Amino acid sequence: MKYKLVCKKCGETIGSFREWFANDQKCKCGSNYAEVVYPETHYHNLPDYFKGEVKSHFQYFEYLPLEHRENIVSCNEGAIPMERWKHMERTAKEQYGIDCKVYMYRNDLNGGTASFKDVSGSLAASVMKENGVKEYCLASTGNAGTAYATYLAKAGIKFTCFSPNWVDDKTAQTIRQTGQTLVVSKGTYGDAKAECAEFHKQSGVMMSCGNTDPIRVESKRTIVFECLRQMGQLPTVYMQAVAGGTSPIAFEKGFRDIRPDYPQYHMPRMLLVQQDECDPMVTAWEWAKEHNFPVDFEHHYEAKKDCHTRIGILTAANPGNYPIVAPLVRNSGGDFIRVEEASLPRFGLQMKRQTGVLMGPASVVCYAGFYRALEQGLIKQNDVVLLNCGEGSLRSQWFVDEVAKLENK
Ligand SMILES: [Zn+2]
Repeated sequence: MKYKLVCKKCGETIGSFREWFANDQKCKCGSNYAEVVYPETHYHNLPDYFKGEVKSHFQYFEYLPLEHRENIVSCNEGAIPMERWKHMERTAKEQYGIDCKVYMYRNDLNGGTASFKDVSGSLAASVMKENGVKEYCLASTGNAGTAYATYLAKAGIKFTCFSPNWVDDKTAQTIRQTGQTLVVSKGTYGDAKAECAEFHKQSGVMMSCGNTDPIRVESKRTIVFECLRQMGQLPTVYMQAVAGGTSPIAFEKGFRDIRPDYPQYHMPRMLLVQQDECDPMVTAWEWAKEHNFPVDFEHHYEAKKDCHTRIGILTAANPGNYPIVAPLVRNSGGDFIRVEEASLPRFGLQMKRQTGVLMGPASVVCYAGFYRALEQGLIKQNDVVLLNCGEGSLRSQWFVDEVAKLENK
């Protein structure tokens, strides 16, 4: 075995995904937070994999928890461009006198379903195929459901997606077109999650184990390898719109993995962005800052009672992973940033005019966050900034329409 799973809570070795799945994705201690460890793997050979045409994150097969290549399920995801977006660099220079490089990680160009869930979906389908999983379910507001439906269908694994009542038509249509099952709840995302949990309990069908799912983390951490391949270095600032927080957790895991072989790099400052209509992590962070980060500050947070955000994929009203994500941000010297949801169409239009690309609203949260970070003095001289923008605008017609309305004014 090239990998093993180790419990993050008690340190117990769990073994392979076969055991993990058989034990309902839990350690003996009851924790569902486990990490993949590769006892024999070193990363100094990583540049060998940068050569030639890189089609997907399975280029890094050596560093993924999959034993046999014949189990790979892929639609060319995870080897997407990191583009220099110079208009953002110009603003930094002209308005703030700051020289920086800005890279945009184009998740909208993923081959599966044009979102950052594609790497997770493809690795999940591959690992499940390898370990004999026949059926899976999860609750999703859109991107994860679409990606898992697509990849699990390709692997011949039956999948049921539970969505909130406001799931958009395009998402519903895409999931159903894969031949998988979509159950639209009469209620909120919270209700959809409860229905999914009940289905899991009744039927025994394996269910997503959340934002620390070791498969999601392992797949998403390949962004660190891609930084080395495409930028030739790690960024000094990592930015992302955050709901659950898997991607920052994954970046940190990837960083820890390569660290012994790349001692010259530091963990980038994490600047995580939320829109003001659903910003429980920012609110909790502001409290911590005000109180000078007391011991256990990461456990001081509250779920938002009224979230009226229109950005379905950024509706984590209960920031369950804040206790994991907040210390990562703190230790990196980073910050949480709030942007106004009402300003997003304006930023979307700016993005479209400057680059010809309009990404989805969650991506624009991150994009707008860069300008807020400049205002707040969070971008420093000579920073190399990476924006991990999660999705295209394919399944957010309302946002495309709002931007168009502004454009035609
Ligand atoms: Zn344990």
